[in-house]
Amino acid sequence: MHPRNRFRSGYDFPRLIEGVPALDAFVAKNAHGNLSIDFADPDAVMTLNQALLKDAYGLQWSLPRGALCPGIPGRNDYLHHLADLLAGGGAVPRGRAVSVLDIGTGASCIYPMIGATEYGWRFVATETDKTAMHWARQIVRINRSIAALIECRWQPDPKACFAGVTKPGETFDASMCNPPFHASAEEAAAGSRRKHRNLGLGRNAPALNFGGTAGELWCEGGELGFIQRMIAESAGRPRLCRWFTTLVSKSEHLPRLRQSLKAARVTDTRIIDMGQGQKKSRILAWTF
Ligand code: SAH
Repeated sequence: MHPRNRFRSGYDFPRLIEGVPALDAFVAKNAHGNLSIDFADPDAVMTLNQALLKDAYGLQWSLPRGALCPGIPGRNDYLHHLADLLAGGGAVPRGRAVSVLDIGTGASCIYPMIGATEYGWRFVATETDKTAMHWARQIVRINRSIAALIECRWQPDPKACFAGVTKPGETFDASMCNPPFHASAEEAAAGSRRKHRNLGLGRNAPALNFGGTAGELWCEGGELGFIQRMIAESAGRPRLCRWFTTLVSKSEHLPRLRQSLKAARVTDTRIIDMGQGQKKSRILAWTF
């Protein structure tokens, strides 16, 4: 995890429970004798997130049932690496002069919530899913300390990332995105069943109830198609963002994405590896 990640050294459950007493019901000793929660239980993960965001940032946060439940330490890492990219070796930029476009913010509005509190950055958060957008707006509204820093904008076209949600002449220091990763609803359901099996939940568990409604989990062309469209669109608006960035969950997509970046005539590309436990991911960043 990134050296500035507050969640590097694990969770202090007694302290978290003090902040959110409802967490107590989900905490038990695991096989190693350490306090933990059942990460296969969406209610447990939601309540842990609630406690983490309250303890670390004083934020009020919740999610509608079935919505994609973000892992807070991983989402945190993306923001710290993005801060380093913007710093370019100098001091990490802080405050409302820094503006970030979060594409597909989810019901959780998680990147703007963390970025506005950690760094005081300003965010424009976009969504195609009406329920998610509605929920994100509510979360922003109730957190008055950061509400003025986050603006949620509805994206009517699921194939667009920048058109329809940005204004002429508007610019950002960076864009960020955790793209929908499956190519079809069936693939999303299969992925969800696999996750259930890996967590020992059995194959008969309901397919899509593990964190993520269908729209959050898939898009035409899957992760690769989504990012390729994003790259092509960025080439038409090269000055929109100083750095365009996105998560890439599958490393096998990188060669094709490099080709797309070359075709788009970017002037610089970065691949920033991030790892939490066995899970590896990376940020792809490009600029014109
Ligand atoms: N940022 C959140 C949610 C990621 S899931 C997190 O990291 O947890 C991806 C989200 O992108 C979904 O909520 C989906 O509805 C949204 N989405 C899909 N296509 C989009 C598009 N073209 N523009 C904006 N949002 C989009």
